[in-house]
Amino acid sequence: MATARETKYRICPFCEATCGLEITIEGREVATIRGDDADVFSHGFICPKGVALAQLDQDPDRLRAPLVRRDGRLVAVSWDEAFAEVERRLQPIVAAHGADAVAVYLGNPNVHNLSLGIYGQALLRTLRTKNIFTASTVDQIPKQLASGLMFGTFTSVAVPDIDRCDYLLMLGANPLDSNGSLWTVPDFPGRLRAMQQRGGRCVVVDPRRTRTAEAADQHLFIRPGTDAYVLMALVHVLFAENLVRLGTLAEHTLGVAEVEAAAWPFSPEAVAPLCGVAADVIRGLARELAAAPRAAVYGRIGTCTQEFGTLASWLVDVCNVLTGNLDRAGGVMFPLAAAFAANSYGTPGVGRGVRIGRRHSRVRHAPEVQGELPAACLAEEIETPGDGQVRALISIAGNPALSTPNGARLARAFETLEVMICLDIYLNETARYADIILPGLSPLEESHYDIVFNQFACRNTVRYSPPVFMPPTDRPAEWETLLRFTGILSGQGAGADVTMLDDFVATTQVQRAVADAQSPICGRDPDEILAALAPRRGPERLLDLTLRAGPYGDGFGAKPDGLSLAKLETQPHGIDLGPLQPRVPEVLRTPSGKIELAPPLILADVDRLRRGLEPHARRDGMVLIGRRHLRSNNSWMHNLPVLAGGRARCTLQMHPDDAARLGLADGGRARVASRVGSVDVPIEVTAAIMPGVVSLPHGWGHDQPGARLGVAAQRPGVNSNLLADELALDPLSGNAVLNGIPVQIEAL
Ligand code: SF4
Repeated sequence: MATARETKYRICPFCEATCGLEITIEGREVATIRGDDADVFSHGFICPKGVALAQLDQDPDRLRAPLVRRDGRLVAVSWDEAFAEVERRLQPIVAAHGADAVAVYLGNPNVHNLSLGIYGQALLRTLRTKNIFTASTVDQIPKQLASGLMFGTFTSVAVPDIDRCDYLLMLGANPLDSNGSLWTVPDFPGRLRAMQQRGGRCVVVDPRRTRTAEAADQHLFIRPGTDAYVLMALVHVLFAENLVRLGTLAEHTLGVAEVEAAAWPFSPEAVAPLCGVAADVIRGLARELAAAPRAAVYGRIGTCTQEFGTLASWLVDVCNVLTGNLDRAGGVMFPLAAAFAANSYGTPGVGRGVRIGRRHSRVRHAPEVQGELPAACLAEEIETPGDGQVRALISIAGNPALSTPNGARLARAFETLEVMICLDIYLNETARYADIILPGLSPLEESHYDIVFNQFACRNTVRYSPPVFMPPTDRPAEWETLLRFTGILSGQGAGADVTMLDDFVATTQVQRAVADAQSPICGRDPDEILAALAPRRGPERLLDLTLRAGPYGDGFGAKPDGLSLAKLETQPHGIDLGPLQPRVPEVLRTPSGKIELAPPLILADVDRLRRGLEPHARRDGMVLIGRRHLRSNNSWMHNLPVLAGGRARCTLQMHPDDAARLGLADGGRARVASRVGSVDVPIEVTAAIMPGVVSLPHGWGHDQPGARLGVAAQRPGVNSNLLADELALDPLSGNAVLNGIPVQIEAL
């Protein structure tokens, strides 16, 4: 008898666009995946990665049982054996050397997973190590730091209101391939087209003519790592030509005069030789930006992964404020997420702001930002003997061997660890060093709610996806695995009762909410709230709590029309909460209650930028940048056949003039060397890249023995992070410098 087809709806967990998917299933098989036309946010948009969710679910290489290293080999064991091994290996290290002897690395999928997002925090609170390293410090922490210092929380990131925008200036961003980053904007291509059709204009500044640059109205090449100079020159022109118009922001903004003084040395003429953008072009950009009725400046990965990452990220919003485009329709605005939004808690318009450097890394003394240390410091923390040396690593959904600087050094460091534990669905290039691997479920066996990306979304919506397939009964969900870790680390042992631990987490969260003077449930009886949340448990219980106590919530009966998870479950395509609304001054959580346009920490770094203008500071050699492809997301998804086909993507793009000078031809091979390593790569000659710049995508290098990625290994590519220098950081945020790496190139 044929199995009946069913239709399910699921938010795609692969990238920040969070598209709604319509998935038809037959029994335990996926029949089709397409965009959900009725989704309130993505309206049917989908990219090739979304379809690949079916192959991820069925991938024979995806781990389904825990692995433990025995006699040098990773062998499948029962879950009880695996947790007993975690306790046997981890507890003595904590007991003998303290919590800091255990480092945690959190990879990018943590923010795409409800279980990991919530219960990973429970694990960190129990472990209390200062050695927390994340993927954020290789791509986005400068933007979060700049936003935190200006607006008061690390997630107060103002995003372009593209649906009402007339002029969009983007630096170092390629949303046609990334589908948006720190800006959740499903169907960016359609939204860009709509903007252009209503007469809007888009300008892209990038060392590469990306697909986004092709679709834009104007593209400008820029020397990698010099975005802060161009942005400073825009600010200079805005002041010099009397184009500053704060409008209603004026009464809510401090530091305008300090910014004017800081920008003064950076005239277009002063920065042009460094940036490769002509002075008159910079002046023209400033005038266009000031004249546009509704404009937004957006900077992304290219502006973050460079030595002036925080300065560039700050200057993006300085431009938005000075032109009166922050917090207004069609400019850049602050989303109001329904749950888990840090900038909707606390007293509106007042806060403590953000602090950094409460702890420092032991070896390099790099400050923590948002509780995280630079991933580029992890290897030295493992290698360097002494008090506080990292002896154990818990890597959660990460692949730092491929995705962080100087992967070769980090891999050598992994081999010296006393124990390494990976929570991962693949035996990848990092997990191959592990002693214990604990796999999660297929995304289709898990429920989903975007706890992070609603905070960066170009429209306020709320969506929840129940599991597409019934979770298996013989394997724990990630949140249960993390609670077992929590039990071990809190001394309750591998056999700790997960239900009791979960009750403890939920009770703690409820007690916090009822004690919060600004919470709609302040003063309520915690037992009443817990009873109202029953019989839910796990992530759903905590999601229901935060939804109901959130800005749109039902307040547990106080606002009967408000949101609850039960209400959301009746809306499989989500609920539209409307376009972004002005939130200043309510959104601000700075100590002054104002937009702090000139944070002292950032202003103090401007002199470093100014020194770069001096003639002796010029560096004219070849530099390396990364690049994004629509079919790839960091180091994973290369094992999915539907995404792995087509032209080879791990090539070194090079301008024809450079190729001719170096004696290289399209399809030839070259050796690329940096201070820390070298790789041999195929050459792709293209005029789409600026002379003097070469580009290599990251996340490749799947030819490592011991990894279990059969499809990816057939076209392994090379690891671009073998060239990235772990000593090169943006000093304020600790973000790795992955764009503008000095390299030497020779033909092979
Ligand atoms: S754009 Fe992102 S969220 Fe949308 S289908 Fe593709 S990978 Fe999934």
